[in-house]
Amino acid sequence: MRTDTAGPQFDPARFVHTPFGWYALTREPSDLGPFPTKSQASNALVDHIRLHKGLNRRNPEDRYSGFTVHDPENCAKNNCGRCAEALAFAGFQAIA
Ligand SMILES: [Zn+2]
Repeated sequence: MRTDTAGPQFDPARFVHTPFGWYALTREPSDLGPFPTKSQASNALVDHIRLHKGLNRRNPEDRYSGFTVHDPENCAKNNCGRCAEALAFAGFQAIA
């Protein structure tokens, strides 16, 4: 029994936790975040989906499929959770 949130159940792959906070990944040019908590990211995603519902016609196959290799150098997004994750990972490697 889950007790942490009462919101809808999103694919866990849609949330990225970075040292900057939580991001919710979207199909739009800008991801949501960072937020201090995952539930805030989840709430933002609820609002985001509500806002974009019906605006985008997408192929049902066009879905996030877990881990993808991400290249911040060539990323077209202007606020990207995967870039934040990649940059943080690179930073940790530099320290180590
Ligand atoms: Zn990116």
